[in-house]
Parts: sequence; structure tokens; C-alpha cells
Amino acid sequence: MNFRYRRSYRGPIQAVIFDWAGTVVDFGCMAPAVVFIEVFKRKGVPISMEEARGPMGTHKRVHIQQITQLDAVRQRWTAKHGKAPTEADVDAMYKDFIPLQLKVLSDYSALIPGTLEAVKTIRKRGGKIGTTTGYSSDMTAINLRDAARAGFKPDSTVTASDVPVGRPSPNMCLQNVINLGVTTVEACVKIDDTVPGIEEGLNAGMWTIGLAVSGNEVGLSLADYRKLAKADRERRRAAAYRRMYQGGGHYVVDSIADIMPCLDDIEARLERGERP
Ligand SMILES: [Mg+2]
Repeated sequence: MNFRYRRSYRGPIQAVIFDWAGTVVDFGCMAPAVVFIEVFKRKGVPISMEEARGPMGTHKRVHIQQITQLDAVRQRWTAKHGKAPTEADVDAMYKDFIPLQLKVLSDYSALIPGTLEAVKTIRKRGGKIGTTTGYSSDMTAINLRDAARAGFKPDSTVTASDVPVGRPSPNMCLQNVINLGVTTVEACVKIDDTVPGIEEGLNAGMWTIGLAVSGNEVGLSLADYRKLAKADRERRRAAAYRRMYQGGGHYVVDSIADIMPCLDDIEARLERGERP
């Protein structure tokens, strides 16, 4: 007789791990986008908002490097400088990026509506709150300070400069697991507004929820999003949902204000022995 048993976790969500910009603060993920544009402008190679946003979620130096690898940007760079951008150019731009980013972070650090309510409900059910980010620790310190004043204080924060490799590697999520004393990765949920951030959670073995409207995918402040004509708003929203589902998200919703039904569903699936 050939048979085997299979072990499965049945229990509540132990931790929810949130991204920062576009997820809990900075509706539209504006702060990094405006600075990437400025850094390239200073090198005489203007880039579009779309080019600036493409690699969002990765470590900011990696992000700059990935922009320099876009065909159209390389062509414009070569036309301006007589040669393709090098690693030294990327280093120089990241050096410019750091003080510019530090300077504007507080302009974009307001909490996204729904954050405090979601965190309160998760904690009431016994879940812990972790965070990860493509920002370095000195940049994150500003977000942490401003968010704390507004009432958001995560139990653990891991930044791109705390780990050997940032997103889409699972390092930051798994460091949160260690920091939070979580026993089981499939009892964790990663929530993010970018595809590299969804991949980070999937690579860590976690459930994932993509946020389509509040972050980099639509890429507009809350006021500008509300000003869009209905047809335009629906078109941009639908495109963002498609990209996040194609990126592997288990669930996609508009913003952090809409996550609770997803968390209920994940707990029901865990109770049935399902895994991410
Ligand atoms: Mg983000």
C-alpha cells in the first residue's frame, strides 16, 4: 500500500507586510518619480514620467540603472554625451538622487486613507505589522517619523539598504519574518503597489495583494485621480489591475482601504489547508 501524509498550516494570518510609498503613504507614489526625473534632467537627458516609473519598487540605485538601460533613454543619452551611460554615470546619479529624495520625502508622506483602520483591525485579530521598501534606511527614517506622528507605527521595518539584495528577492520579507517572530511564511501576506513588490512576497512564499490605484501603476495623486473623466479613470484602473494580476498577485484591489475582504478570504483558505 503506497500512501503519504501532507502537512498544512491551519490558523490565522500571523503578519501583514506592507510596502511604504504608494501603499501606506504617498498616494500615487509621487516622491521617487519626481526625483528620478530631476536627476536625469540634470544630466541633460530628460525622461518621461512613464520611463521614470517603470522599475519602481527596486532599490533606487538599481532603479536608476534600469532607466539607463531603456533603449530610448540610451539613445538620448548617447546623442547628448557621445557614449552610452556607464556604471560610473549611475553612481553619480544615485549620489545626486539621495539628497534630492531626502529633501522632498516629507512633502509626500501623508498616510493613505484606510491605513490606520486596516492596521487596527489586523492587530485586533493578533496579526503583526511589518514593512519593506525600495528606499534606503535614511530615507525610510523620514517616512517612519512622519507616519508615527500620524499614528502608524509598524512592528518591524526592513529597507533596501538593510539586505544584500532588494526586490524582487525575498530578503526583506524574510527579515521581517525573523524580526516579528512569525512561525510560518504561508501565514503572512505581502501588500504592495508594484510588480517587483508582489514578486518579493511570492518569492518569500507569502500571499500577496496588489494595490492598483493608490500607487505607481496609476501614478496620480488622490486629487488628480478623482479629477479624471470616468472613462479615462476606468481605463487606467483596468490596465493596472491587469498588470498586477499578470505579475502574480493573488488579489488586486484599489488601495489599502479595500484589503480586509482579501484578508478574510486568505484566512478561510488557510483554514481549508490551502497555501499561497
Ligand atoms: Mg511602493
